[in-house]
Amino acid sequence: MNQLKLDLHLHTWYSTDAIDPPSLILKMAARKGLYAIAITDHNTVQGVKRARECKSNVVVIPGIEVDAKEGHIIGLGISTEIKPWRTAAETVELIKDAGGFVVVPHPFDYMRRGVGTIARRLGADAIEVLNSKTNTPFSNTLAKRLAKNIKSAVTAGSDAHLAEDVGNAYVLIQEKGEPSVDRILSIIASKKHDKVKVAGKITSLRSRVRKIALQRMKRKGPY
Ligand SMILES: [Zn+2]
Ligand SMILES: [Zn+2]
Repeated sequence: MNQLKLDLHLHTWYSTDAIDPPSLILKMAARKGLYAIAITDHNTVQGVKRARECKSNVVVIPGIEVDAKEGHIIGLGISTEIKPWRTAAETVELIKDAGGFVVVPHPFDYMRRGVGTIARRLGADAIEVLNSKTNTPFSNTLAKRLAKNIKSAVTAGSDAHLAEDVGNAYVLIQEKGEPSVDRILSIIASKKHDKVKVAGKITSLRSRVRKIALQRMKRKGPY
């Protein structure tokens, strides 16, 4: 039985606010011993497509972080684009219709478009209970509490916008061999707490400041 690390939420430079290309993200993921990463760019799957062309032993889980009216909703296991700015309930439905696995990321991080308490009744497949980029770590505690109350499956992710932050948070699963994307998602959905654990840390202040500076350069060009 292998213990496999999965970072289920991160961004490549195809997100307007993220910095590094898929190739560098994959290199960093391999260096950090991740078995799989979910590429969840904002409202686009271009990063997923590019990552699939890269040579890497790291499994790419296709995904997208969609801007719904009330906040962010993630679809995993799909490489189709879901139109933003619909209601959260409609977004969940569209992701499910496309065959995706719905995750509510950072539900109680109101500074970063968490959907809030409606997470309880969206019928999502999982709640993200550990997000490294939160500015208010208590929001992770609230997310954990919600997942427990509604008996939801859980995920975790670095929400990295820089390659150096990949793997800051991850899901740990116990599994024989090399599970496929579908198998990974079904293990998470199984809610077997002995098989699925979350671990990780909050992103450092140093890295947050670096990201803001690089983001500024990306938008306006170097000074
Ligand atoms: Zn988000
Ligand atoms: Zn994100």
